[in-house]
Amino acid sequence: MTMRYRNYIGGEWVDAHSGATFEDINPANEELLGLIARSDAQDADAAVEAAAKAYPAWRLTPAPKRGEILFRVGQFLLERKEELARLLTREMGKVLPEARGDVQEAIDMAFYIAGEGRRLLGYTAPVELPNKFGMAVRDSVGVAAIITPWNFPIAIPSWKIFPALIAGNTVVFKPASDTPMLAAEFVKIFEEAGLPAGVLNLVTGPGGEAGEALLHHPLVKIVSFTGSTEAGTHVAVEAAKTLKRVSLEMGGKNAVIVLDDANLDLAVEAILWSAFGTTGQRCTACSRLIVQQGIQPRLTEALVERTRALRLGDGLLPTTDVGPVINRRALEKIHAYVQIGQQEGARLLCGGDIYRDSGQGFYYLPTLFDRVQPDMRIAQEEIFGPVLSIIAVKDLSQAVEVNNRVAYGLSSSIFTQDVNAAFRAMRDLTTGIVYVNHGTTGAEIQFPFGGTRGTGNGHREAGQTALDIFTEWKAIYVDYSGRLQRAQIDTGAFGETSVSGQAG
Ligand code: NAP
Repeated sequence: MTMRYRNYIGGEWVDAHSGATFEDINPANEELLGLIARSDAQDADAAVEAAAKAYPAWRLTPAPKRGEILFRVGQFLLERKEELARLLTREMGKVLPEARGDVQEAIDMAFYIAGEGRRLLGYTAPVELPNKFGMAVRDSVGVAAIITPWNFPIAIPSWKIFPALIAGNTVVFKPASDTPMLAAEFVKIFEEAGLPAGVLNLVTGPGGEAGEALLHHPLVKIVSFTGSTEAGTHVAVEAAKTLKRVSLEMGGKNAVIVLDDANLDLAVEAILWSAFGTTGQRCTACSRLIVQQGIQPRLTEALVERTRALRLGDGLLPTTDVGPVINRRALEKIHAYVQIGQQEGARLLCGGDIYRDSGQGFYYLPTLFDRVQPDMRIAQEEIFGPVLSIIAVKDLSQAVEVNNRVAYGLSSSIFTQDVNAAFRAMRDLTTGIVYVNHGTTGAEIQFPFGGTRGTGNGHREAGQTALDIFTEWKAIYVDYSGRLQRAQIDTGAFGETSVSGQAG
């Protein structure tokens, strides 16, 4: 029987007002998994209104109590980890061990952020006048619209929903149309954990309709978006019209640098994992290998051999190394880029075609190019699939320059045993995340996550910095002198003496 999934608005599971649905397909075999509510602006508006109605009471719920609910969510996620991971693989395609990692990240985030219920730290500082106290506290912002992609269908929503809720905001969650079932299962867990009605709402349906409406609704105060740079730029422009706070996590064109002195075996393992893990569909996936000329022949030879040996298939099978890509559109886009690479003069070393042996599903052969010039399109644009371009350089300076000269700035990595080279790279690589002797993927939730240039707009998710996205700073002064003490520049006015030049 085909599963039917509804929106969750004001604590009720409801069909789209039109009754329309869309199909959710397993990319491994094109099996129909479920029929999903196809929402439009009217459904999105209803969800925003439910979130706005729930906001005053949630805002005043003590943060430690909010944290207790999120802690329960974490426990339920842990209990259901395997079931969620299997659904994740069926809906999105990544191999089961990676799907477990995706769910684990949500568990980690739940427990980490639940603890913030007893912190949400502000600060005090000395003040200029006697008998006066000053403090800075975090306040909630209001209704947050959370718009997410399909490639980490539970981890990325968790990076946004947990910090939004702990800070006292209410949420409207619009997941990617390729992964709505996992989103609904995630929301059900909040319901089971006792989250009050209206605090978290789910609206499924096309970004251009349900998502677009969230960008314009005056009651939405924050938009937290992860997805392509193209859609994210549109989100920023539209949300600016009503002065919403906008946090964007977007595309990447990440590189591993390998210097001549690197540990070759370690580099090979890390490059394979970074380039072809999640079928190259991680925002932090390595799509450029910047290699010093001395080690290049040996590294290339080892990579070709190992890449050819990767086994494609359904991510539920233990024999599968690389699962399908998300949908037919992605398959066609990846193949178009491979053809562009060949036309540009890059040399195809292996892969380079759609894999058809499975009969059904969306599989692309892991692909390696060498003789890639840094300004070729395959070295500049996000392909978001299992395609790695090898770029030869003469030294570290050139490697850093090539790494930084792209429109994105999420993650970079260097393999070297020279501590001086490692520190120069840490200083000079202009990405939000830098790894030394590790691939480009594998961020941990207690550190800031995000990127520079076309990857973001200055915010960082996860870690303590996630709280900055979802809180307003409020400065509070308490004067307990019992008389008017001025801290302003208007000395002498009204017969009082000022102590400072503080304005405002
Ligand atoms: P996408 O097509 O940009 O979609 C992202 C989300 O935005 C989806 O929920 C989509 O809904 C929605 N959306 C699309 N148009 C919209 C509009 N006009 N108004 C409001 N919402 C709209 O991206 P994707 O293909 O799902 O994800 C892949 C991209 O995400 C890659 O570029 C990857 O690098 C990036 N990514 C970045 C990070 C990071 O942290 N930097 C992490 C993961 C992924 P529909 O699904 O209904 O179209």
